[in-house]
Amino acid sequence: MEDIKYDTEGVIFNIQRYSLHDGPGIRTIPFFKGCPLRCKWCSNPESQRLQPEIMFQDSNCVHCGKCAEVCHFGAISFDRPYIVDKDRCVGCGACAEVCPTAALVQKGKRVTVWQVIQELQKDESVYRRSGGGITLSGGEALSQPEFARELLKACKSKGWHTAIETTGLAPKQVIDDIFPFIDLALVDIKAINPHTHKDATGVDNRQILENVIRISYITKTIVRIPVIMGVNDDVQSIQAIANFTKLMHNVTEIHLLPYHNYGENKYALLGLIYPMKGLPNSMPTDTMEMLKAEVERLGIKCQIGG
Ligand code: SF4
Ligand code: SF4
Repeated sequence: MEDIKYDTEGVIFNIQRYSLHDGPGIRTIPFFKGCPLRCKWCSNPESQRLQPEIMFQDSNCVHCGKCAEVCHFGAISFDRPYIVDKDRCVGCGACAEVCPTAALVQKGKRVTVWQVIQELQKDESVYRRSGGGITLSGGEALSQPEFARELLKACKSKGWHTAIETTGLAPKQVIDDIFPFIDLALVDIKAINPHTHKDATGVDNRQILENVIRISYITKTIVRIPVIMGVNDDVQSIQAIANFTKLMHNVTEIHLLPYHNYGENKYALLGLIYPMKGLPNSMPTDTMEMLKAEVERLGIKCQIGG
């Protein structure tokens, strides 16, 4: 294998250990920052922007003013309810470091491949015993292609199973460069209708659909459908995606991921409005069972949840 550039830097906002989801066995999941989509139901809004950013919990703030004193960018003002000006903030984290009450928390930090590998290494024996490994998640890991590729190369050099949770949106060259280092691709398909897709995610789906076919020819692929009320929670939408998977190479399994509103509170902490506000908190079980039966009727193995 070509040399691994361990000093390649990227931005992540979490490393979750002992996950039983997102691939076989027990897994460790680095969450990348940055995503080209803006799905209305996104449960990780802190993942969307590439740069580190600040979450502000109003109820914890004692108005001591320490944060404003250390901010060199004039990004903090107490004249507004959400004290951080996102256009000025560069995510340096200085304010969060001095805040005595953790009202300000930095989300995302710049790290090297070497630093992430040191963290992943802690559970090496767990991967071996459970048949698990590493799953890149986010955000969209393909938004940081150099970092993702070097990290995956480093994982493969240690013999770890690698997976990625992906929207599939990236230039073709990125797909060709990265997927040879991935054992399992969990690709999201939200909608086949381009208007529905654009309205729900903010982006066109043509490149995504081309890419997911391409990915399926490079590595083992499972299609995941986040089932969202008013977007794709009907038989025709799910049938269209299930039929599309027949164009892919050897995709035998679809996972239906029911909508939930677990991420709603994070929008306020980021000074954002939750786009799904006012809708029910989760998908009804009978709708999920009905859609699962529909996928199975088309001859494709299906499960609810990932
Ligand atoms: S993260 Fe840095 S730039 Fe942003 S508000 Fe805090 S101190 Fe200012
Ligand atoms: S440092 Fe923390 S507690 Fe003090 S004003 Fe800033 S956010 Fe509020």
